[in-house]
Amino acid sequence: MSLLDIALALGLLVSLGVIFWLLARRPAPPVPAPAPAPPWHDDLDAAGQPLFQAAAAALDAGLVAVDLARRVRFVSDHAAQMLAIAEDSVGLGLITLLRDHQADALVAEVLRDGEPREMTMHPISSGRTLRLRCSALPGPGALLIIRDVTQISMLERSRRDLVANVSHELRTPLASLKLLVETVQSEPPPDVTRRMLGQMAQEIDAVTQLVDELHDLAQIESGRVTLKLAPLLIGPVVDRALERIRPQAERKGLRTCAEISGGEAAVLMDPDRVGQVLLNLLHNAVKFTSEGGEVRVQAKLIAEDAGQSGPWLQVSVCDTGVGIPSQDLPRIFERFYKVDRARTRLAGGTGLGLAIAKHLVEGHGGRLWADSVEGHGSTFSFTLPVA
Ligand code: ADP
Repeated sequence: MSLLDIALALGLLVSLGVIFWLLARRPAPPVPAPAPAPPWHDDLDAAGQPLFQAAAAALDAGLVAVDLARRVRFVSDHAAQMLAIAEDSVGLGLITLLRDHQADALVAEVLRDGEPREMTMHPISSGRTLRLRCSALPGPGALLIIRDVTQISMLERSRRDLVANVSHELRTPLASLKLLVETVQSEPPPDVTRRMLGQMAQEIDAVTQLVDELHDLAQIESGRVTLKLAPLLIGPVVDRALERIRPQAERKGLRTCAEISGGEAAVLMDPDRVGQVLLNLLHNAVKFTSEGGEVRVQAKLIAEDAGQSGPWLQVSVCDTGVGIPSQDLPRIFERFYKVDRARTRLAGGTGLGLAIAKHLVEGHGGRLWADSVEGHGSTFSFTLPVA
């Protein structure tokens, strides 16, 4: 080996050493950091994070997150309230939380095919109507969004009831009108025709009363009736109402009377509307009291009414009539409620009078209620604020 070869080999070794040294000094290429897992991807613990909790608290809906086994992983405070859950429910099965097999099955289906679904549920524990929407999460679980629709469904039911009641109330007089017209068309003897015409007039009055009262109720409930309040004495209003009811009472052989104490105190009232309330109560008293009975109007001053300090004037209409069964008593102020439909049909009436009267009394700031013992008469009382 020549000297030149040795020199070349040494040079090569030195160069290789320098290259290795340089390579060794270069910083190692950075190890890529693991990509942050999407919050719902690996597990549902993101539900416990403060931001998520703050967002859930700001929503007007309740949130519940479940895993693939339908175990509860998160319940927002709102959802806990709506479902009436007392203790911490994380870790429980969804069925234990909702106590509703249909809802549990719906979540299972969403977890299976990923399609969002909705349903309405009525948890017995809270007595509310809840709308539940369930969507799959992009990962192992599902999110339930729960809205309280109790108010909306009550309004819907009341609208449906109103339509059903109005058509029911109209059907009866219209059916009997049709029958009466057909009978008159068959040219019966003159006295029968006269009687039928009288009955037709009565049926027309019933329909007219229904339409008038419905209109009244709609006006009052929509706040379109403004009370013309003034400090006035109750005496003349009671006298006028009794005067108007007297012919009907006399026809049935009923005694009528008024006992007014505290009548010197002026009350803040709209006399036409208070007169309407009184007339309605008197009308019912006469209608549901049989011959020989009595209808009495009483008025007295009271210091407080149902915990509200007064003074108040309490006006009562008492009768010695059929009375109202105790189970019906809390419901008679509802629209269209009648204790005994067959009996009321004979006596006439729409079932709207007391609902209207209650609105009118409450519009004055007072209260209307009834006391009765079945078979022993009824007393309807209302309060008005002393001016
Ligand atoms: P209506 O037009 O049918 O009289 P109301 O709303 O005035 O409607 O009364 C509702 C129901 O309450 C009546 O149908 C009747 O069953 C009952 N009621 C009201 N007042 C009396 C009363 N003085 N005595 C017995 N029952 C009554």
